[in-house]
Amino acid sequence: MISVSDEQLAQMRAHGERDYPYECCGLMLGRFANGLKQVLETYAISNAREEEAKRNRFLIRPEELMRGEKYARENGLDVVGFYHSHPDDVAVPSQYDLEHAWPTYSYIVMSVEKTRAVDLRSWEMESDRTRFNEEEIMSR
Ligand SMILES: [Zn+2]
Repeated sequence: MISVSDEQLAQMRAHGERDYPYECCGLMLGRFANGLKQVLETYAISNAREEEAKRNRFLIRPEELMRGEKYARENGLDVVGFYHSHPDDVAVPSQYDLEHAWPTYSYIVMSVEKTRAVDLRSWEMESDRTRFNEEEIMSR
C-alpha cells in the first residue's frame, strides 16, 4: 500500500498534463514503514528520450536519478517509487515498463487523455519480475 497526499496527487497530475502529449516522469520520495510506503514529496524529472520516442517510453537519465537520490538523502528521505504518464493510453504499465522496473518500488502510472489526467493507478512488481500487481493508494 502507498500513502499519498491529495496535494502530491495533484502535483503528479499537473505534471502529466503539462508535458502532454509527451510522457512525464518523476520520483516519489518518502519513507518505507511496515510494508507501507509513505510519499512525502514528489520530485519532477524531465523525460530524457528523443522527441519521437517520448510518447511511449520513459527513461530517467542516470545523472538525473542520482541528483534526485542525493536530494532525497540530504532531506532524510528515500526514493519509494516512480511516476510517469501514458498520453492517450491506459494507466497500466507497459511491457517496456516491466522490463525497466525494480521490485520494492511503487510505480504510479497516469492516463492523460487530450491534456487531462483522467486516471491514476499504482503498481508494484511481483518479486519474480514477471508482472505488476495493482497497489492500493491511500490518499490523505
Ligand atoms: Zn509506461
